[in-house]
Amino acid sequence: MISNFIKTIMEEDLASGKHKEIITRFPPEPNAFLHIGHARAIVTNFELAKCFGGKTILRFDDTNPAKEEKRFMDAIINDIKWLGYEPYKITFGSDYFDTDYELAVGLIKSGLAYVDDLTKEEMKEYRGTLEEKGKESPYRNRSIEENLKLFEEMKEGKYEEGEKTLRVKIDMASSNLNMRDPAIYRIIKKPHPHTGDKWNIYPLYDYAHPLQDAMEYITHSLCSLEYVEHRPLYDWVIENTHPISTPRQIEFGRLNIEGTILSKRFLKELVDSKLVDDYDDPRMPTLVGLKRRGFTKESIREFVLSTGLSRINSEIPFNVLDHFLMEDLKLKVPRRMAVLNPLKVIITNYDENKIEHFDFLNNLENEELGYRKISFSNTLYIEKEDFTPVKPNNKYKRLSLGAEVRLMGAYFIKANDCKYDENGEVIEVLCTYDPNTLSGSGFNERKPQGTIQYVDAKTCKKATFNLFDSLIDSNVDEDLPLKDRFNKNSKVSLEGFVEEAYDPTSESKTQLMRNGYYSNDYDSKEDNIIINRTVSLKQSFNK
Ligand code: ATP
Ligand code: MG
Repeated sequence: MISNFIKTIMEEDLASGKHKEIITRFPPEPNAFLHIGHARAIVTNFELAKCFGGKTILRFDDTNPAKEEKRFMDAIINDIKWLGYEPYKITFGSDYFDTDYELAVGLIKSGLAYVDDLTKEEMKEYRGTLEEKGKESPYRNRSIEENLKLFEEMKEGKYEEGEKTLRVKIDMASSNLNMRDPAIYRIIKKPHPHTGDKWNIYPLYDYAHPLQDAMEYITHSLCSLEYVEHRPLYDWVIENTHPISTPRQIEFGRLNIEGTILSKRFLKELVDSKLVDDYDDPRMPTLVGLKRRGFTKESIREFVLSTGLSRINSEIPFNVLDHFLMEDLKLKVPRRMAVLNPLKVIITNYDENKIEHFDFLNNLENEELGYRKISFSNTLYIEKEDFTPVKPNNKYKRLSLGAEVRLMGAYFIKANDCKYDENGEVIEVLCTYDPNTLSGSGFNERKPQGTIQYVDAKTCKKATFNLFDSLIDSNVDEDLPLKDRFNKNSKVSLEGFVEEAYDPTSESKTQLMRNGYYSNDYDSKEDNIIINRTVSLKQSFNK
């Protein structure tokens, strides 16, 4: 792993003997699918521990019984596995509820925690603001005995939600709002997926999290930058509850990607309002969405590692990810010819009953991928954009009337005439071919104007091509509700053709020549081929 400030801290802690082993954890809340921002946290935790022969625990943060769902847990486990990591063990925040409770009782006994009767609204008001100091609750000085009794009663279910909370006694005048007597337990009268109806009270994140880390002997508790302001409380909890180990919280910058929003709430809103098909819609920045779109785990890992870890949040253009995908697949996947906007070409001097088959390398840069057959007949399709009747300028490298191009792997063709529809759009090009110019024949008497791909109308397969763009419309005001910021053109489907060799049952990823990298969709089958564009070759990122 590339050097970064966290790795340096770990090296120092091992060298000084503070720790003998590095133990990290990834602590998602199982309330949604993971997105590529989480990949930064996953890769960082697993790779750092791996660097030092350490361990990484997957811990589901399930302290709030209302939010967890089994399908999200399964998805998170699968995503981590897909990225190539195996947790040392899988734990749950709720595994530690007993200890959390005992240590809270300990805080009460030391005079460091009290039961408060203020309502949520009152508590907010008493808390003060950044400019204004907080006010102490009238219940702050209850006796230890009374606090113990009330906390026990909260636990037994004597009070309703919102009636009482347990707070720690720190400093209502602290400049850090998180230190103004934060609540550490609240009443929630819902059964918990793991502990059933054992508890009527549940610990809050800022109290439970450091204790979970401590109980698992986590040495370095890595989290994103928004937790900086919570670190003093994290340390306070560890110092005052004296758990079995002393973890250290370290923050790193969040990953953001242009044109999308890496937030579970946003992604959930898109799914719930049916603006996208599901969490694995190829437009989604979820790991399942990126996978369906065709991104590989290697490209995501490389992306995360190369964009580095820093103490500031970063926003990275999406095409940086594209770059890593192309690097990964360039030599690995077969290349095929496809036509997304078909324009018919008739070869007038070619026998209409004849078909020829040629051997063509699967990947021109990697002979190891072998050959496939491509075919040629008198009726072909080329891309609409590869023909224009009148050549616009000398840089034009495609087909125009009176000029010749090479069809990849086949012959030179020359455009002699074209037919138009009633709207003046070209619908057919009439060409002649030169039999002496077959690819590989060594013909070098003339240079064609350019080289374009084609498919043979007699053998090609129909296919739907899905092209994707940013989820968020960058021209729209950021303050508008999400629905209005959604890019309605984020998915475009085209009906075209792919060459005969394309096999939707075995080809998961392909480069469509002169076009981009594509991935066979999960729903694609021989009689209904659906291919998702992962990355366009045209908008590639230049390292
Ligand atoms: P969201 O903000 O999308 O709702 P979250 O932070 O609430 O996500 P958690 O399940 O709490 O989601 O996240 C688990 C871990 O992933 C946390 O340690 C969090 O810091 C980290 N994480 C989440 N999003 C990002 C991101 N964009 N970049 C880096 N780390 C992230
Ligand atoms: Mg969170």
